[in-house]
Amino acid sequence: MKVIETVDEMRRLRRTLAGPVGFVPTMGYLHEGHLSLVKRAREDNATVVVSIFVNPTQFGPCEDLEDYPRDIKRDLTMLEELDTDVVFMPPPDEIYPPQFNTWVEVTGLTERLEGAARPTHFRGVTTVVAKLFNIVQPTRAYFGQKDAQQAIVIQKMATDLNMGLDVIVCPTIREHDGLAMSSRNIYLTPEQRRSATVLSQSLKMAERLWTDGERNAEHIRSEMRQFIERQPEGQIDYISVADTLTLEELDTITSAALVSLAVRFGKTRLLDNVVLRPYQGK
Ligand code: AMP
Repeated sequence: MKVIETVDEMRRLRRTLAGPVGFVPTMGYLHEGHLSLVKRAREDNATVVVSIFVNPTQFGPCEDLEDYPRDIKRDLTMLEELDTDVVFMPPPDEIYPPQFNTWVEVTGLTERLEGAARPTHFRGVTTVVAKLFNIVQPTRAYFGQKDAQQAIVIQKMATDLNMGLDVIVCPTIREHDGLAMSSRNIYLTPEQRRSATVLSQSLKMAERLWTDGERNAEHIRSEMRQFIERQPEGQIDYISVADTLTLEELDTITSAALVSLAVRFGKTRLLDNVVLRPYQGK
C-alpha cells in the first residue's frame, strides 16, 4: 500500500495505475461504514485509492474542525487489511495553498436540509471532491447513503460538469441497535448514545406507516417528531420527507421519497435517512 501526501506525487503515480480505478474519499477515523465502501471498490476495480482529508472548508466557523477525531495509524492498518492500493492523505495547504480562490457550487439542491442548517457546507464538499476527482481521476467514486444529500449533490456535480466517472452510492452501515455508524458517534455520552437510537427507530416507524398505506408526508413528519420528542435528550434540527431528486418537501408521497432527519445531542449532530421506494422488490 502506497501512502502519498502531495498532489504531484499522486499525479505521477496515477499514470502508472491499472484501471479501472475506484476511489473512496473520507475524512478518516474509519469505521465499518467507510470500510464497506472500500470493500465495494475493491470488488469492482483493479486499483483502489482512498483519501483521508479532514476538509476545513466544509466546516462552519462554530463547528468541530479542530476536535474532529483523527487516528491515522489505525486508519492505515484498516486500509492495508482491505488490500487498498493507494492512500492519498495531503496536508491542508497541499489542497488549499495560499491565495486559493476557486469554488465549485451546486445550487438549488444545496439550499435545503443540511444546506439550510450549514450554509457553506456543500460548497466546501463539492470543491474538495472536485479537486480530489481531478487529482485521482477515478473511473468510479464511492459514497455512503448515510449522507444522502451529499451523494445526490455529488452525483449532480459530476453530471453537470461532465466529470466522466460513475458515482456509486452504497447502503448505510449500522450498529447492532440501528444507530448509523459515524465518526462523530464517539462524542456521545452513554446516555446520549442510548437515546440516539430514536433516529433509526423513527425512520423504521416512517417506513411502517408508509407500508401500511400512509401517503400524507406531514403526517409521517409529525409522527416522527412526536416519537423523538418523547425522550428528553436530542433536539430536532429537521425532519424531512422530500422528493429524491429535487429534495423539495412533499405534501403527498406519490413515488419515491427520501425521509431524512438531523438531531442534536449536546454538541453532536446526527443524521440518518431512509428511501421509501414503491414496489421495491415486489
Ligand atoms: P466521512 O469520513 O464522514 O466524510 O465519510 C466518508 C464516506 O463514508 C462518505 O461517502 C459517507 O457517506 C460514508 N459513510 C459514512 N458513514 C457511513 C455509514 N454508516 N454507512 C455507509 N457509508 C458511510
